Amino acid sequence: MTVGGQEWECDVLVIGGGPGGSTAAALLQRTGRRVILLEKERHPRFHIGESLLPANLPIFERLGVADKVRALGVYKAGADFPDGSGGHQTFRFRNALGATPPHAYQVTRAEFDQMLFEHARAGGVDAREGVKVERVDVDGIGQVSAHARDGDGGELTVRAKYLVDASGRDTLLANQLKLKRKNDKHQSAAIFAHYRGVRLRAGEDAGNISIYRFEQGWCWIIPLRDGLASVGCVCWPEHLRQRRGDNAGFLDATLRSMPQAWERVAQAERVSDIRVTGNYSYSCTQMSGPGWVMVGDAYAFVDPVFSSGVYLAMESAERAAVMIDAALAQPQREAALQARYARRFQRGLRVFSWFIYRFNSPVMRQMFASPRNTWRIEDGVVSLLAGDVFDNASVMRRIAAFKLIYAAVGLADARRWIGEWRTRRRQARVAFSGGDTPVDPA
Ligand SMILES: Cc1cc2nc3c(=O)[nH]c(=O)nc-3n(C[C@H](O)[C@H](O)[C@H](O)COP(=O)(O)OP(=O)(O)OC[C@H]3O[C@@H](n4cnc5c(N)ncnc54)[C@H](O)[C@@H]3O)c2cc1C
Repeated sequence: MTVGGQEWECDVLVIGGGPGGSTAAALLQRTGRRVILLEKERHPRFHIGESLLPANLPIFERLGVADKVRALGVYKAGADFPDGSGGHQTFRFRNALGATPPHAYQVTRAEFDQMLFEHARAGGVDAREGVKVERVDVDGIGQVSAHARDGDGGELTVRAKYLVDASGRDTLLANQLKLKRKNDKHQSAAIFAHYRGVRLRAGEDAGNISIYRFEQGWCWIIPLRDGLASVGCVCWPEHLRQRRGDNAGFLDATLRSMPQAWERVAQAERVSDIRVTGNYSYSCTQMSGPGWVMVGDAYAFVDPVFSSGVYLAMESAERAAVMIDAALAQPQREAALQARYARRFQRGLRVFSWFIYRFNSPVMRQMFASPRNTWRIEDGVVSLLAGDVFDNASVMRRIAAFKLIYAAVGLADARRWIGEWRTRRRQARVAFSGGDTPVDPA
């Protein structure tokens, strides 16, 4: 890194100190590489994405942070969805197929991300905050340079052998190389805040995420520590555009349209600003190239309904670390290693995406409201909700069976299905807003 004319060098430069970047940095440092990790903000800083999946837990173990996550998380035994008759259907992770852990955690991301960042630093990573990368030049292994600016406006240059872009929805490299594409099958935006005093589920389900649906989207309730809860609505962007600046009134009105959610939130006190995120469904045409790789949201993000974002970021970061270590050792294998890396990630993303695109359809509502466990298909859905979307053949078989049943039920009700599909296509054609709107104050 250059500070006032100085040049600093490292083996791997990681851009972005979120879960993806901190994980990749920590694991690469462990392989003996010299790693610089640059984060534009200063931890602790707010971030959305508080509900984790059981599949995260083995990564925490390997990273060496399992105890730290336990200390700052709320125990999450499962997820619940409306059952269509005023109650709810709970999917408990302990019913998942295979060896997925029987629970996950809900975390306050400011604390969680700070912990991961400091863990990377404690492992020897040169981790810097308040440094924003503005441009990168990548011409292959050994030929990476990044131009950045620190909080005082000072210019910095980093030279590295390899680049990891973990810049999240900022999608630094994708913007620069024009690789980012809107998702033409799905569009969504979100409005959310923290509350104190939200009514929780009873007993072991007190930490569960609850999902509710309304005509233009869905909402979440995520219990956090110290009596707090995260409450947010994900909706079609044009629904959000109706708010005309009145965020509080808009959020209340949207929650009121889901009486089951509203009765849990009505008496609670909002303790944070309301934040708004513009349409965020996109992916990139490439996940890697000579001397660089993307992890997590820097490559793609679809929708948070299955709480998959942090897991996919950390999973891809872990794989990227292995891939980069091998590519640095044997540069001639880089293209093949990268192709395998991208194929795997895209496979997992496809599994989640199939469910996401159909989540608000009448057929999916029905199947989540009253699931059947014939041939353990319901347990296969629990495995999906737990994040087991990569390697477990028995889960994939159940998901394939679920899709068949979905198609059969849909065929039986074809006219409604086609109408709903047309609506979704119409929604998806609405102009792409190109990323986040700035955080709106309450
Ligand atoms: C409304 C909503 C709700 C969500 N809910 C959930 C949920 O419940 N569970 C879940 O798992 N996921 C959820 N997600 C998704 C989750 O937020 C992300 O998938 C996850 O944070 C991705 O991690 P990441 O490390 O790839 O990126 P990020 O966590 O976004 O980290 C990227 C980091 O890079 C830094 N950065 C960006 N540009 C630069 C630059 N130029 N130079 C230096 N640093 C830079 C940023 O400041 C940031 O710290 C949600 C997303 C949305 C929009």
